[in-house]
Amino acid sequence: MNAVLPPTLIDGKAAAARVLAEVGSEVLTLKASGIAPALAVVLVGQDPASQVYVRNKVLRAEECGIRSLEHKLPAETQEADLLALIHSLNADDSVHGILVQLPLPAHIDETRVLQAIDPLKDVDGFHAENVGGLSQGREVLTPCTPAGCLRLLQDTCGDLSGQHAVVIGRSNIVGKPMAALLLKAHCSVTVVHSRSTNLRELCRQADIVVAAVGRPRLVDADWLKPGAVVIDVGINRIEEDGRSKLVGDVDFDSALTRAAAITPVPGGVGPMTIAFLMKNTLAAARLQHPATGLPLSTVENPA
Ligand code: NDP
Repeated sequence: MNAVLPPTLIDGKAAAARVLAEVGSEVLTLKASGIAPALAVVLVGQDPASQVYVRNKVLRAEECGIRSLEHKLPAETQEADLLALIHSLNADDSVHGILVQLPLPAHIDETRVLQAIDPLKDVDGFHAENVGGLSQGREVLTPCTPAGCLRLLQDTCGDLSGQHAVVIGRSNIVGKPMAALLLKAHCSVTVVHSRSTNLRELCRQADIVVAAVGRPRLVDADWLKPGAVVIDVGINRIEEDGRSKLVGDVDFDSALTRAAAITPVPGGVGPMTIAFLMKNTLAAARLQHPATGLPLSTVENPA
């Protein structure tokens, strides 16, 4: 990856539209074999941001021809009642994917709830069975945001073999699965986090930088080697020039002076997350109906 001027803007909206079109046509194929993919979305409480996320997921599912079932529960729902709902969705053969919108109210044990979801229906890829499978390099349901980031990288760079990737952040939702996916795609991977001592120097060695930190504009040109490809996962709301705006973990204008390619915020990783939720729902339907003979293909992997 050599420095190219001007840098490529990695268009997540266009990439997501392509993924959703793929899903839409594969849903038709599945329906032709008698399987109607269905996604159950469970929301506990009235968190405004979660309500927007759930609405968008349901809308996107409908656009792809995936049936969606919304389960809206009051904030005071007891853990046992939520677990009972999950068990009934696990047992329902007409439901292929189950997503529990996070965060859950504080009185509910998030891990216990996520572990209750059938791993074959775990479209978020957070169940320990799927986490372990990913780290073993098996074909399993994989967290949507890192899967979307990998697709953006593969669309932009082609084969990633031998590239040095630095992932900033080690969360279970983004950083760790991102590192596992990059390793699976034959990158050399360095993961850095809040206790890393030489963050900037490590980043400057990277061909690929994935920033998943939650710190507005942490990464600027000084952190990048010329020609680096930058994926900015961060979504941070800040007040600037008297108005509220969304910015990433990367200082976009500064990074543009060094990067060969970069995702904007918004319009980069965000749309891919939801598109990969749809791809995972389709994959879950196939996993539950292996007789269709259709491939899992949640994440494209080089041999
Ligand atoms: P977490 O808060 O769970 O993890 C943040 C990670 O960044 C941690 O590993 C933390 O290190 C590390 N970190 C924090 N501060 C620093 C620092 N100064 N230097 C180096 N590392 C640091 O966040 P998530 O992974 O859930 O999300 C990260 C960002 O991505 C957020 O902005 C979030 O909103 C966004 N996001 C966007 C999505 C999308 O669809 N576009 C989806 C999911 C998240 P340590 O482990 O040591 O604490």
